[in-house]
Amino acid sequence: MEQLELLWNYQQADSAADKLEKEIKRSPTRQKLIKYRDSLLEQQTAFKRVDGEVAAMGDRLDALKDAVALTEEQLKNLIMKIESSEDSLEQVSAYISEVKRLQGNLSAYEQETRRIRKDAADRERIQHEIKVRYAKYKAEFDKLKQAYDVEYKEKSAQLEELKKAAEEKTAGISKEMLDRYRAIKLHSVPPLARLNGNQCGGCNMSLPSAVTRAIKAGELIECETCGRLLLPGV
Ligand SMILES: [Zn+2]
Repeated sequence: MEQLELLWNYQQADSAADKLEKEIKRSPTRQKLIKYRDSLLEQQTAFKRVDGEVAAMGDRLDALKDAVALTEEQLKNLIMKIESSEDSLEQVSAYISEVKRLQGNLSAYEQETRRIRKDAADRERIQHEIKVRYAKYKAEFDKLKQAYDVEYKEKSAQLEELKKAAEEKTAGISKEMLDRYRAIKLHSVPPLARLNGNQCGGCNMSLPSAVTRAIKAGELIECETCGRLLLPGV
């Protein structure tokens, strides 16, 4: 009986510490901070993605530049051949259709180059927007972080106090009883319940009168339904 009442007092202090610990984890400032951190990561990912796209565009522009240079060289050679008038008319006519084909290629290369330049400019704008957004989120994050650090320091100190107070309440409780308390806590919180009439104060299940009598007589009995260790009602 004595042990159970000591354990009950310990449970009060233990629950208070647990409650504050949960509160710290659920702190709205902390939740907001997590949201901002996720947004910052999103912006970084987006920036990197656009960076990769811009790099690919740069590679394609280089390839186009080479293709244009090569085609211009081929055109120059063809024109020289046409102008030398050493070949047959048939041959010259073939040169001319080749010139037309190469000119078509050149114009396609130029069109693609213009399109890529425009796309690249769009992406620069997008990157700028991402940077602006990132800076905004970062400023909010830093401000919140400062507030949270203050809050966290305060609450952590309080939590330490509560944990210490709970630890002090374990004085006089046998190791066996404490172990039993902790084992029940893994599945039922709080682990102890008082009788409420003939009901378990934890899960409200009605108990046989023989059981309630035994509890009142100081026997250690766990609720058959929720597994809590039962104490007489007050
Ligand atoms: Zn119960």
